[in-house]
Amino acid sequence: MSFTLHGIGVSSGIAIGRAHLVTHAQLEVPHLEITEADVAQEQARFESAIGRVRGELSQLASHIPHNAPAEFGAFLNVHLMILGDEMIAAAPKAMIAAQLCNAEWALKQQMEALLEQFDRIDDPYLRERKTDVRQVVERVLAALILDTTSAAIASPEDGSILVARDLSPADVILFKQHRFASFITDLGGTTSHTAIVARSLGIPSIVALHHARKLVREDELLIVDGGHGVVIVNPDETTLAEYRLRQDEWDLDRQKLQRLKTTRAATLDGTRIELHANIELPGDVDQVRTAGAAGIGLFRTEFLYLNRRGLPDEDEQFEAYRKVVTEMDGLPVTIRTFDLGADKELHGTERVSANPALGLRAIRLCLAEPQMFQRQLRAILRASAFGKVRLLVPMLSSLHELNQTLQAIAEAKRSLEDDEIAFDPAIPVGGMIEIPAAALSLGIFTRKLDFLSIGTNDLIQYTLAIDRTDDAVAHLYDPLHPAVLQLIAGIIQAGAKAGKPVAVCGEMAGDPTLTRLLLGFGLRQFSMHPANVLSVKRVVLKSDLDEVAQIARRMLRTDEPDKMYALLEKLNAG
Ligand code: PEP
Ligand code: MG
Repeated sequence: MSFTLHGIGVSSGIAIGRAHLVTHAQLEVPHLEITEADVAQEQARFESAIGRVRGELSQLASHIPHNAPAEFGAFLNVHLMILGDEMIAAAPKAMIAAQLCNAEWALKQQMEALLEQFDRIDDPYLRERKTDVRQVVERVLAALILDTTSAAIASPEDGSILVARDLSPADVILFKQHRFASFITDLGGTTSHTAIVARSLGIPSIVALHHARKLVREDELLIVDGGHGVVIVNPDETTLAEYRLRQDEWDLDRQKLQRLKTTRAATLDGTRIELHANIELPGDVDQVRTAGAAGIGLFRTEFLYLNRRGLPDEDEQFEAYRKVVTEMDGLPVTIRTFDLGADKELHGTERVSANPALGLRAIRLCLAEPQMFQRQLRAILRASAFGKVRLLVPMLSSLHELNQTLQAIAEAKRSLEDDEIAFDPAIPVGGMIEIPAAALSLGIFTRKLDFLSIGTNDLIQYTLAIDRTDDAVAHLYDPLHPAVLQLIAGIIQAGAKAGKPVAVCGEMAGDPTLTRLLLGFGLRQFSMHPANVLSVKRVVLKSDLDEVAQIARRMLRTDEPDKMYALLEKLNAG
């Protein structure tokens, strides 16, 4: 029987292949009674499984592929640490003896008790480690049950589609050695580790499918449409033929797009448009170069802080920034100061907010942690001696905050001068406009800053009052809401009037269906995920600025969704 599943597409493209299920060990744990005489043997079996998993993780840690995201090493170390913890490595042995049960059952009971404790932890960083604990235990369970390791990613056929409840970063490293066509998972969100890694692998992937692992059977034929977040299980011949065609078209299209890599990004009338890329980790620069982006418009530095216990010191940060700046070889690099808080929690903060998106986040957190902020500012300034660096501040909302930020930057410059360390004294400082209050009081920001960057993801979240991490309101996310369009157009116009460059670096910038609308509002700088640069460039090359500006103006006067969509269609025709 053919059926369709919907999830969140995290990496575009179409894959057609046979399902390979990663063993969901947790559900399949048998409960067996053993005798006193079997206890020692059962404990030995448990120890041997722990040993095998340790061996496998250590092996992975010492063979991290050079193209793996920089955070993999840290992930593996966390998993090794958990594996060595008494609660995992020793407690189940006592349970085997006390309860006279098999090793799998003891481990599963222990895991459930531990996970329950995690739910009660206030520290969000530690709470998040629940997933790591589960992944480590499932790996040991798989070793026990299958008498093999590595969550049964043994030797699937090339081109198969991996179906899992969740995947750990360690599992994903193995992907580099296998040629999966795609992977799909029940858990995860667009910002989960799995999603981040999926993008770096460049294969179509979907997360948050909820029931795929239960409903899909081994070897069933699947179609994965990563762009639309759709999985078709057991497609009929007609559907299959249609997707084969789409797949060919997609591949051909990618090849064609590559030809635009060195083409100058300009509209039909010759106006130059800057297409920059967003990155999360220094290792993403390769993709930026491959896409032919003209610079980095957003380096989300907070990713250096995630998934690790200690905070990076000034030197470690400096090295990361310098690496990016040097590899970009003279092209501009916009380094955003930490946007921690909300869904990206900083380890060690005691503060638990009832409403994290409205809480101590981004610049607010940095101003509340002056030493941490100074370390980062000094590191960014030091990197500015090695190329064209711009400093970008997230979530600004008031003059007071802006003044405090500028003072902090001045202080960091002074301290570097005192230490006789080189930096660019004229480093441009910009602000993200992503809070409606900032969008409606732009004078403050255009007067005091060198450039602005519109964070449409947050601007939409705060304007429409929809938590961007909450599935339940995801359908209300609407970049074409008249209020959103008024704000965006207003920011672009205010920037032009004040002679200050304005960019858009939220997801809207990477959506080719919105490129002309933004051009029509007067936008000349876009920053997006590297994978989208060439698709957006293609639209730019075919756009006539006068024409698109005219339709964009009409869209600004429209408040009815139907008319809005009709105008968008008109805008994108031809
Ligand atoms: C945004 O809010 O649009 C943005 C680019 O920043 P982030 O997605 O990191 O919040
Ligand atoms: Mg933002």
